[in-house]
This record gives sequence, structure tokens and C-alpha cells, in this order.
Amino acid sequence: MKLTDTLLDLLFPPKCPFCRRVLDAPGVCPECEKTLPWTDEAHGLRELGDGLLCAAPLWYEGSVREAVRRFKFRGGVCAAGPLGELIARAAAERFSGEFDAVTWVPVSARRLRKRGYDQSRLLAERACALWGVEPEVLLRKVRDNPAQSGLDSAEARRENTRGVYEALGDLHGKRVLLIDDVCTTGSTLRSAAGALLSAGAAGVVCAAAAFPGPKGENGGEKGKEQACILEEVQV
Ligand SMILES: [Zn+2]
Repeated sequence: MKLTDTLLDLLFPPKCPFCRRVLDAPGVCPECEKTLPWTDEAHGLRELGDGLLCAAPLWYEGSVREAVRRFKFRGGVCAAGPLGELIARAAAERFSGEFDAVTWVPVSARRLRKRGYDQSRLLAERACALWGVEPEVLLRKVRDNPAQSGLDSAEARRENTRGVYEALGDLHGKRVLLIDDVCTTGSTLRSAAGALLSAGAAGVVCAAAAFPGPKGENGGEKGKEQACILEEVQV
């Protein structure tokens, strides 16, 4: 651990990203390890359409939704470590030996300036740190589309992400693990994966921190999101 890390730990001790309990070391507290809404064997892997697979360790509800929203919209970057490690764990379980490059779904230059960080890049960096590799810059967001969270229908989300990503560099023969924060309907991941495949990638698999919950506390919204997913998978 670097000296600056030690100083930062004294000033800002590591906290569990889900319940905010102060911890001795960064990670998930034992209580949350037991009680978080983990996806099970049958639901931790989802087909997003066109054979594209995504793994996610958690359901996007309760303290998971709070942690992701804090991380994404309110500058809670210290959650990147624990969330990135959970993504790495899920990707290793589901796709071991199926990828040899890691990248992420980037935000636009404008949003990066506004937010100050690219949340999925931080997740990819933390996942890669566990494997002793570096994530690669393979995608660029060329159009600053409206946030997916404001769109209701699967068709609107699909249209909103069309042509938004451009692949960078030589992708021929690369089998890519593509990381995003949350996989809602899969439109964003499919659009980004499509750009990688069109540029010559040999394969793409995806991993995110969470899928929208199967039932959850505000069932209406979740039900609608779930319906979008099913509709997309069937297309
Ligand atoms: Zn906790």
C-alpha cells in the first residue's frame, strides 16, 4: 500500500459501499455479504439478444441501488473497489478463459468533464487490478445521447444507443470482456458490443454489477424494466 493510500485511509476510512459501515479494509462487510440480494446460479447470467451474454452478481434494488447511485451520480468513487471486485468475481465464474482483453462502456467527453470520472472505467480498472492486467481503451462514445434511465420503452432505449459507440485500435482476434455499471435492458451493452464486433473483435462477453430486480420494492418500475428485457431477448 502506498503512503498516500494509508493517509487517505486515516482521513477517509474504508466503508462498506452498501451499508456505509466503517471497515478495517476496503470491501463488503460480513453482514452485507450475507444479506445482499445476490443473483443465483440461474439468474446471474442473461442473454441480451444476438447471443450476447452478461453476468451480474447482484439485483439492482435496496442498498445495491443506493450504492450504485451514490457511486454513479454523487461522487462515491470509493465504491469502485468493492463493486469492481464483485464484477471480477462474476466474470471469472461465468467467463473464465473466454476473454483476453478488458474494456468498459465509456461515458461521453462531455459527461466525463461534468462528472469528473468515468464510473465504468473505474470498475474495469479495479477488476483488472485483481488479475494483474490493465483495461484497454477500445471504445469511444461519439454521441452524447440522453440518459437511458429516462426512457420507458425498449425501442426508445435501442434507438437512443444506436451508433453511439465507436471502436478504437486493432481489435482483430481479441476476445473482449466489456464492463458496465448496471445492465438494465442491455441496449447500451449491445450497442457497445456491436461496435467492437464490427471492428473485428473475435468475441464479446459482458459483466455488470447488477441486473434490475425480479420483483423488488417498487415493483411497478421493476416490472416495466423486466418486461423491456424480456421483450428485447425475444426480438
Ligand atoms: Zn455492509
